[in-house]
Amino acid sequence: MNMNEKNSGYSQETEYLYKGDRVEGMDLKPEVIPCFLTTAFNMDDLNDVKEVYANKGYTYIRTRNPNRDALSEAVTYLEQGTDTDIFSSGMGAITSTLLCLLNPGDQIICNKDIYGETFNVLDEILQKMSVQVVFVPFDNPEDVRAAVTGRTRVIYTEVVSNPTIHIADLPALADIAYRAGARLVVDNTFTTPFSVKPLALGADIVINSLTKFLNGHSDAMGGSVTCRDAELLAKIHHIAMLCGTPGDPFSSWLILRGLHTAALRIPRQMETAARLAHTLAANPHISGVNHTSLASHPQWALSQRMGGEKGLGCPILSIYLPEDQDKMSQFMDRLNFARYAPTLGGIRTTLSHPVTSSHPNVPDDIRRAMGITPGLLRISVGTENADDLAADFEQAMRVFD
Ligand code: PLP
Repeated sequence: MNMNEKNSGYSQETEYLYKGDRVEGMDLKPEVIPCFLTTAFNMDDLNDVKEVYANKGYTYIRTRNPNRDALSEAVTYLEQGTDTDIFSSGMGAITSTLLCLLNPGDQIICNKDIYGETFNVLDEILQKMSVQVVFVPFDNPEDVRAAVTGRTRVIYTEVVSNPTIHIADLPALADIAYRAGARLVVDNTFTTPFSVKPLALGADIVINSLTKFLNGHSDAMGGSVTCRDAELLAKIHHIAMLCGTPGDPFSSWLILRGLHTAALRIPRQMETAARLAHTLAANPHISGVNHTSLASHPQWALSQRMGGEKGLGCPILSIYLPEDQDKMSQFMDRLNFARYAPTLGGIRTTLSHPVTSSHPNVPDDIRRAMGITPGLLRISVGTENADDLAADFEQAMRVFD
């Protein structure tokens, strides 16, 4: 009997290690699920062919693969869904889901603070399909309610926004979506299921870019879509099949390997981020810090409501440095650990500069209104020792003395 068949009721960090650890139809019992790098599975005769297709067994790589299934089991457990589809990337997960949910004439209401390429999917691909796309600030759920029409089919948001860390009130948004007969779709990439479980708060679909914290090692790309409605997930799977967006076996294998240490990494990364946020908030050269653990966060009450006394866990923060490009470069040079990288979620702390990376084409006044100044740096916190990291930022800040 394996763990999946035994009584549950143990802690999440124990139980999730035993999800996806057995392959259907395989007699051998390897300690770790092997990587099934095969594009197809053989069948014995026409009766076998019929049976395998009827039972949704393993046939062709784009349809089903044991490594995707194993990863899917673990993500489903963590997100408290009933099933998960695994994709080639977070963007593959997002586009396949939206293409499935929306038809010409439908409306989608999207948080205006959204990942740049998600914005582009809505702005370039969905608009071309005659979907009505409405971007609204989600800080006040009443603005979202006011945007609802009879054609609203999807309400879309990330749990916290990039790079200014605004928080979406998921229970309020779920209520709005429910009353509108629309689906609430939530991207949990920044916060991860180790901080918040959007499905438990009323979301219909939760998406993760597995490329980030859940894999955690900056060496594989993938995405996931989890929900509690098997019929809906089957429809999304069908679109993924047609669009060729399912994840490849090796990436799925790598991501499951990374995920197995996520319970050790991610809560610590969140705590270190909170520690760094408090340290940097006290630095006289830093004019502001955006993090969910700070009582100065404009949505502190919501942060506590969704995350408990210490606020919503989040391994990402952003800081406002003086707007002096040379000094900022010197500061980055002086840091011993954190390096610049156009990604996030790895085991080492990384930096990004939104004005030059994610928002270079947005006019300065609009960017500033969004809280994105030339002095803003985003920090994705790794697993370094919290004291080392805080001390390193403090010593590098002396360039501004
Ligand atoms: N969602 C968020 C919040 C992201 O930050 C990203 C990428 O940075 C994505 C989705 C897309 O993920 P991927 O790069 O795996 O396609």
